[in-house]
Amino acid sequence: MSVQVLSPTVIIWATPKTMLRALRHLPAAALDLLLPRHCPVSGRPLLAEEPGPVAPEVLRAVVVAGRDYCTRCGAPQGENVGQVAQCASCRDARDGFGTTEICAIGSYSEPLRSMCKAMKFGGARPMAQPLAAWLVQLLVDRGISTQVDVVVPVPLHVLRRFERGFNQAALLARPLASALGKPCLDHALRRVQGTQRQARLSALERRKNVENAFVLRPAFRTRVQAKSVLLVDDVMTTGATFAAAATALKQAGASQVFGAIAARAALDDDY
Ligand SMILES: [Zn+2]
Repeated sequence: MSVQVLSPTVIIWATPKTMLRALRHLPAAALDLLLPRHCPVSGRPLLAEEPGPVAPEVLRAVVVAGRDYCTRCGAPQGENVGQVAQCASCRDARDGFGTTEICAIGSYSEPLRSMCKAMKFGGARPMAQPLAAWLVQLLVDRGISTQVDVVVPVPLHVLRRFERGFNQAALLARPLASALGKPCLDHALRRVQGTQRQARLSALERRKNVENAFVLRPAFRTRVQAKSVLLVDDVMTTGATFAAAATALKQAGASQVFGAIAARAALDDDY
């Protein structure tokens, strides 16, 4: 198939490949004119001097968790509450999530919710960059960054991964690992059960649904054994998936598991 390109003086016929090659050499301003980029959260066109994946005002509107958070699940607790070892959102997880501590950028509310959705459902891969940057800051502030040996994303089942074309947790884990200077073991965990979608299940049903859903691939055993692992996912709701993945890492010999998630959601959140 060829595509017609019109210019004031010439009319040429070019293949899509030729066009892409030509587009790569255009200055950013000209490219924005031809193919305007839009902020996937606010919908407004992004200017040439705004190279990020979202509008700067959207980034500024995200309330990043401060000093008041739940060390068990990372959920922000509101001002002056201080750190809590177990918040209302994770009171059902009596045995915790198999993790030493979890960092979350914030609650699953706007605009963080739209940023997560754009990455997961819209395939907005560059969205992982600001999310990873916030997480790195939290990991540094809380003294976790220096304790991490390897980074592991929560995997999707192979069929879901094929359907979506990417694993959003890996999109987030890679820049995070790179900023921490640690290896990202994309394929360390394997999801062995094609579990049903979690969205409509209760907390207890979710736990049963994902129990034993993950195993460590034998080839990664020595890279995880006696290591402190940072487990990464985009959103945590009941924590059942996270706990199952952390358990698989511990069973494979990980000394401890820390968590990094973009947002902590409630069970009734639309996710
Ligand atoms: Zn909590």
